[in-house]
Amino acid sequence: MANPVVDRYFRAMTTLRWPSLVRVAAAAAISLFARELTAQPSAAVDPTAALLSELIRINTSNPPGTTLPLAELLQKRFIAAGYTVEIVQTPEKGKVHFIARLKGDGSKKPLLLAAHADVVGVEREKWSLDPFAGVIKDGHVYGRGAIDFKGGMAVFAMAALRLGEKKVPLARDVIFLAEADEEGAPLNTSWLARDHWASMDAEFALNEGGWIIKGDDEKVRYVSISTADKSVTGIVLTSKGTSTHSSMPLPDNALASLAGAIARIAAYETPVQLTAESRQFFQTLGKTSTGETARFFRDLVDGTPAQVHVADSVISKDPLLHAIMRNTIAPVLISGGFRSNVIPGSAEATLNLRLIPGTDPNAMVAMIEKLVNDPRVTVKLAPGSSATPSSPVASSVETELYRALARESKAQWPTAEVTPYLFQAGTDAAAWRSRGIPVYGIYPYPITNDELRTMHGNDERVSVASLQQGTEMIYRTLVSVAGKNAPAAPANKKK
Ligand SMILES: [Zn+2]
Repeated sequence: MANPVVDRYFRAMTTLRWPSLVRVAAAAAISLFARELTAQPSAAVDPTAALLSELIRINTSNPPGTTLPLAELLQKRFIAAGYTVEIVQTPEKGKVHFIARLKGDGSKKPLLLAAHADVVGVEREKWSLDPFAGVIKDGHVYGRGAIDFKGGMAVFAMAALRLGEKKVPLARDVIFLAEADEEGAPLNTSWLARDHWASMDAEFALNEGGWIIKGDDEKVRYVSISTADKSVTGIVLTSKGTSTHSSMPLPDNALASLAGAIARIAAYETPVQLTAESRQFFQTLGKTSTGETARFFRDLVDGTPAQVHVADSVISKDPLLHAIMRNTIAPVLISGGFRSNVIPGSAEATLNLRLIPGTDPNAMVAMIEKLVNDPRVTVKLAPGSSATPSSPVASSVETELYRALARESKAQWPTAEVTPYLFQAGTDAAAWRSRGIPVYGIYPYPITNDELRTMHGNDERVSVASLQQGTEMIYRTLVSVAGKNAPAAPANKKK
């Protein structure tokens, strides 16, 4: 296919199905790294990369998600740049939210930058280098959180610090928030909002979300700015059978019923459901593609049901694109049985669902019940999962912040198309969106699909040049939206 972005997507899929290839590549990489690890350059190379390297060295893996040492590091930097700082202690020792504020003249409501401080854990033996050493080599910063989301934190922080250092006159406060517990734990921004809303109230917020995707030629293909997130729901399947001696099996084995139910769910494909922003996103992919690939994207948006079906089957080979266009259901946990000579009386499985905004979780329970079609298996929302649909209203693209992001992205990467986006995973933006405050999401650095796959994976990394470019783009956006003397200076053509 002619489109390099899509080519890479498809190649990525091919690689995923051939783990031995991955292992060979990893082994080659390890031998290279072993020689070069000692030659780590001084972090003075680039201030954003240097800060990211420092942030990675503070292990904030969640659990336990300890963020106090990271907050203390940020505190020094932000106070030096003229910010006032607040560290909010959660009920868990060492787990804090960090909030810094640079005062404007109050003529406009604040602009908030949010970056989660916690990261997911690592499968250490699968990394070719220390995931918590903040190694900078071959033009990349390596480590857990390099993409998600300490890279974004470094970019947001450097841009925000520069506003203070340069004493840019501000019409609105700029708030920088490094929050705890974004990676699937409860003391998150929703917890923070309950008692500390005044500290995080804003006209709009910038968070993680969309992607700045570049091709093999290093040219940025598109910038997707998320205006909505999927919501997360858990569903529990419980099967019941006769508990008895394993020497005399009965037809109602609870494990077998559960396995059958999971197999039926796994074989089912949820229908294509495009939100307004997903339509725009796929239209943009159509514009940045050629030939047959472009046609598939156009068919997905505007085709007949038969054309949509064919387009879906081709485009869905990319797991990211597959996820954006539908609700997803993934079996993630299974438990049952306690010893080898007993048939257990029950077994349980958990499904993780990522739902398009506005989807009713109870309707998903009913749909799965029908699919399972077995009276021995009950289907229920998992404890703690909300039964209320998330708001179907996306953040408006008609705000100063969205317009500035789109304009400055285009100025930074003239080859790129800019599009709104439904984020396929989910973030902690609900604290603001549920209060009617627009939130826009971006991972603020150009990234290839190869790099994207390292997020939550192994050898997570981001390029130093991308961090630099992202910092310039975000800085100009902040000056333009929060500064008194907007518009910002034109793009630096050297970057
Ligand atoms: Zn994240």
